[in-house]
Amino acid sequence: MKSKSSIARLVRPLVSTVHAYVPGEQPRIKGLIKLNTNENPYPPSPRVIRDVKAAVDGRLRLYPEASALPLREELAKLHGCSPENIVVGNGSDEVLALATRAFVEPAGKTKSSASTIQYFTPSYSLYPVLAAIHGARTNEVSLTSDFDIPELSMLKKSRAWDFGAALTLVTTPNAPGGRGYSTARLEALCRLHKGVVILDEAYVDFAAENAMELALKYPHVIVSRTFSKSYSLCFQRVGYFVGHPDLMAALHKIRDSYNVNGLGQIAAVATLKSLPYYRKNFKLICATRERLTRALTDLGFSIPPSQANFILVRPPKFSPEAWLAKWKEHKILVRWFRSSSVRDYLRITIGTDAEADALIAAARKILG
Ligand SMILES: *Cc1c(COP(=O)(O)O)cnc(C)c1O
Repeated sequence: MKSKSSIARLVRPLVSTVHAYVPGEQPRIKGLIKLNTNENPYPPSPRVIRDVKAAVDGRLRLYPEASALPLREELAKLHGCSPENIVVGNGSDEVLALATRAFVEPAGKTKSSASTIQYFTPSYSLYPVLAAIHGARTNEVSLTSDFDIPELSMLKKSRAWDFGAALTLVTTPNAPGGRGYSTARLEALCRLHKGVVILDEAYVDFAAENAMELALKYPHVIVSRTFSKSYSLCFQRVGYFVGHPDLMAALHKIRDSYNVNGLGQIAAVATLKSLPYYRKNFKLICATRERLTRALTDLGFSIPPSQANFILVRPPKFSPEAWLAKWKEHKILVRWFRSSSVRDYLRITIGTDAEADALIAAARKILG
């Protein structure tokens, strides 16, 4: 204890050893083309801006709806379920954290599956952080080299995958790989699980299929969604789960009483009342994604098929780190992950068509 400073000793050892999640940079550089955090390039709908502005007055002194009921009612209409099937969070990151606390025992107190959080790699880099914070075990199993989920027969045979894990997280479409998975395959996987399975559909609006029906069919399956990516609302922090009412009730019990801020709730409700506006943007982004993929492929980049609002590219001629720096010189910011499974790649968020053109033009110059 002597070696530790008197302040450091006040922090739990578990917290001292946690490696915090590393968010993408948010530099404030004028004219920067920001393609590093999967933000939507298009603004929220005019109705969202109007309703949020109209709510900014003396009522800010009041607490918001404690359980976000008006928003849950709108979401229930959208998904054909009841508000009891839904819990809303301060971003889906919050509900994911709540799930670790509600469904997973910290390691050491029970047998291993009960304290295991399981996921494929690569996937969302927050999952291991959530496990570390909670003191849970992790079980990581690699996706195939082209970011596909291994065949079920392989998963069963390998015994690396724990079908009894307390919590299994599947990012679908995958991030950062971009690959989408069919509902039929996800259903076959879910059916073999004894613990809770969360299908993290953060990018599903850019995909061919979604698996919402599984959350309403199987009591142990939860679908996670967010307003951040497809609904241009990162700033407001609104995400939610759809699942069995008993699981949702457990999450409601342990969440902060007013976990979703009032303006976020208003923005999310207004979003759901302007869906045609957003659906047009989904189409635009998917079209830009396909065009950018073709152009970069022609320049020698290798790119697995994406069903998300980003592509993962293996660049030619220079290392990913060098490309990151070179694009930055052209005022274009993309993302490079140091972790071994994707360190040969860069992740590029799909921006506007003009941003894609700038990225392609810069790539041509860099290649000479
Ligand atoms: C962005 C993201 C989230 C979280 O989004 P919030 O902004 O917290 O709602 C969850 N899962 C994946 C895979 C993501 O990429």
